[in-house]
Amino acid sequence: MAFLTRFAPSPTGPLHLGHAYSALLAADMARAADGAFLLRIEDIDRARSRSAWEAQIFDDLHWLGLDWPEPVMRQSERLGVYRAALDGLRARGLLYYCNCTRRDIETALDAPQEGAMPRGPDGLIYPGTCRDLHHKDGVLRLNMAAALPLVGDLHFAETGPRHTGRIDLDKAEYLSGIGDIVLARRDMGTSYHLSVVLDDAELGITHVVRGEDLFEATVIHVLLQRLMDLPTPIYHHHALIRDAAGKRLAKRDDARALTKYRAEGCSPADIRQMVGL
Ligand code: GLU
Repeated sequence: MAFLTRFAPSPTGPLHLGHAYSALLAADMARAADGAFLLRIEDIDRARSRSAWEAQIFDDLHWLGLDWPEPVMRQSERLGVYRAALDGLRARGLLYYCNCTRRDIETALDAPQEGAMPRGPDGLIYPGTCRDLHHKDGVLRLNMAAALPLVGDLHFAETGPRHTGRIDLDKAEYLSGIGDIVLARRDMGTSYHLSVVLDDAELGITHVVRGEDLFEATVIHVLLQRLMDLPTPIYHHHALIRDAAGKRLAKRDDARALTKYRAEGCSPADIRQMVGL
């Protein structure tokens, strides 16, 4: 398959216009390239995922005119795969357990200097407190300094509107701007980053179409792909759909839920027009 893409929502709330744009754009691009469009349900957050939201997602997407092969991949059914990948990374000495609370991290970061604490795509940049403490449980963090020398140059191909072409990633940025990210949370035994990378590889995704708010996540995903010897898809980071005030639509922004537009009598064609497709 020359062009295989996916839409990967989390069933933790209603789909809004931003989701509709992402899904329709991915499906349009697949159709134009004579490829295929898949749906994947990202339900590793068991505390927030609901089957009712999942059913609503299927219904909204079908209403928009989208179709995909069944059965769909569900992350909650792949915990064993994630565990095996974590075991592999651990055996290579690339992960360590961390027991720090948020407060511990803030305290450690605040001590040496005043002012703003360093933040990365996943929040505060971990100061490394537990790195050499050999804990036996906790969250599993990636030892970034140990990981980077194992991979060659990091880059990926981008087709989105903001930059098109090869994007070279700066390894120094991974240390200063990302740090030792969590690859397995205590409550879910995995993380968004690890699961997405393994799932895209398992599905053979060639093109990832996602919002530009996930650009920094992509930077992390490229490193994880190299570390686990997985292919790097081509990425298309699209612009975000914003409300009239220019504020980006969050998933909890029920005011823009597709269900509301449907209830008001909008057609799928109206939605396409609203998102500029
Ligand atoms: N599941 C993620 C979300 O709902 C995005 C999936 C991805 O492109 O990695 O925002």
